[in-house]
Amino acid sequence: MTLWPALPFNSEETLLSYADRLSVMHTGRGMKRLVRDFGIDTENFTSGYVDAVAVFADATGLPLLDLQQASVRVLRSCASFRGDNISKLFLSPRAARYCPTCLEEDGDRADWRFRLIWGFHHVARCDLHALWLVDAPTSNETNLRLALGTSELGEAQTVHAKTPDYLSWLRARIHGSVNGKNKWMDGQTIEQVLAASEMLGSILQHGHKVAITKLKPGETEEATDIGFSIYAEGPEAIEEALDTIRQTSTATAVQAGPLALYGSLFNWLDRQCNAINPGPIRDILRDHIVKHSAVEPGTRVLGVEITERRYHTLYSLSAAVGVERPRLSRLLKKLGEIPMDATEVESGRMVFETAKSVRLIEAFATAIPLRDVPAYLCATQNQVEILYRVGLVHPLIPRAGRGSVRHVVIARSHLDELLNKVTELPVLDETAAGEFHPISYACQRGAGRFEDLLADVLDGKVQGYRRFDKVGIGAIEVDVRSLIAMKKSA
Ligand SMILES: [Zn+2]
Repeated sequence: MTLWPALPFNSEETLLSYADRLSVMHTGRGMKRLVRDFGIDTENFTSGYVDAVAVFADATGLPLLDLQQASVRVLRSCASFRGDNISKLFLSPRAARYCPTCLEEDGDRADWRFRLIWGFHHVARCDLHALWLVDAPTSNETNLRLALGTSELGEAQTVHAKTPDYLSWLRARIHGSVNGKNKWMDGQTIEQVLAASEMLGSILQHGHKVAITKLKPGETEEATDIGFSIYAEGPEAIEEALDTIRQTSTATAVQAGPLALYGSLFNWLDRQCNAINPGPIRDILRDHIVKHSAVEPGTRVLGVEITERRYHTLYSLSAAVGVERPRLSRLLKKLGEIPMDATEVESGRMVFETAKSVRLIEAFATAIPLRDVPAYLCATQNQVEILYRVGLVHPLIPRAGRGSVRHVVIARSHLDELLNKVTELPVLDETAAGEFHPISYACQRGAGRFEDLLADVLDGKVQGYRRFDKVGIGAIEVDVRSLIAMKKSA
C-alpha cells in the first residue's frame, strides 16, 4: 500500500514529526491513528524500534534509510542514533523546542516540522535565523502540533553572538557530510565530541566544580563552543587544556587527588558516563594523570589498572629508596631536582620521574667518598687526585664551584666502569719479550703524563696488560721500552 497524495519527506525533520503530519493529512487525526492502520505498535514506533520503522517505510514507500536517519531509538537506560549508543539526554525525539521563524516559514500549524537538530542537548539556537530556540508549552510530545496545542508561536529572540563552530559541524555531520575533513572527530560519535567539548569548556569557563546540568542553554552553548575550539584540534590541544585545568586547580593538599585537580571532568569520566563510552577523552585524561601524578602501581585510574609507576612523590620516593624524607629533600635539592628555595609543601607537591630519580638516589646511596676511591681503584692518592682534577673520575653531584672535596662522592657504577676496562686488558705474559712496568713508572721514564697514558690504555690506543695477581689501576703494566721508542720516533 502506498499513500496518495504523498507528503515529501526530508530527514531534517524527525520521523515522528513527519508521521504526525502525514496522519493528519490522510486521516484527520494524529500519528497514532495512521500507525495503527499500518498495523504497527505505537509504542514501538515512538521508541524508534527498527522493525516498526521498516513497516512504516514499506507502507509509505519512503526509503528506509532516510527514515532511520531521522529517528532516535529510545531504550530503557540509553538511546541510539544512527547506530551509535547515546545518552537519553543528549538527543531527544521530543518536540520540546522550536524556532518561531522556521515554523512561520513552514506555514500552517499542520505543516510545522520538528527539526532533528533541535533535539540535541547542545543546540540552543536556530543557526539559520540566529534566534534562540523557544521552549514548547508541553515538553513530552513528539510533534509540534500537540506540543504547542492552541498556543501562539513564542517570541523570536535574536542571538547576538556568532554561530558557534560546533553547530555548523553538527549540521554538516547530521545533514551533510564531514567525512575526511577532520579524521580525529570522524572516528567519534557526535555525543563523544560534544559532551567532551562541553565538559572542557565548562571547567575552563566556570571552574572545577561546575555542575553542567545547572547551566542555562546559552551558557551550555558558550562552554561547548570554547571546548569545541580546543577539542577539534585533537589530543595535543586537549592535553594543553588539561595542563591549564590542572594548574588552575585550587587544590593545595600535598596529595591532591585527580578529582581535586580535574574537577567535574574527572568525576564525569570516572563515574557518570559509565553507560555510554565517552570516547578518547577518557584515555587522554588518564594519560595526563599518570604522566603528572605519582600513581601507585595497581591503582585503577578511570577504569584501567596502572601497572607501572611513572612518577614518585617525595613520600613514595623516600619509601622506595629507603632515605628519610628530610635528608632526601636536601639531597634532591643538591642534585638540582628540587629548587633550593622550595618550601616543604612545594616539595611535597612535586613529582619525580621514577626511572631517573630512583637511579640517582640509588647511585647516591651506594656512592663512594672521594677519600676511599684510591683503595677502590687500587691507585695512589696522588693518581686519584689527578684523575679527579682532569675529570676522568667525576663526582656524582656536579660541583657548584671551588669548594671542599670533603663531601664529594663518586658513583660506584662510574668507578666500576673504569675497573671493567682494566679487567678487559689481556693478562701479562711474563715470558713475553719487553720491559713491563706500571704506568707511573713509564711516566717517570718519559712516556707522557699519567692521565694521558691511562686514558690511552683504557681506550685501547696504547696496548696495556694486567697482572693476574693484582686488580685495578695498580694492575696495569705497559711495555716501557717500546713506548719510549715510539715517543722518540713520533
Ligand atoms: Zn529558524
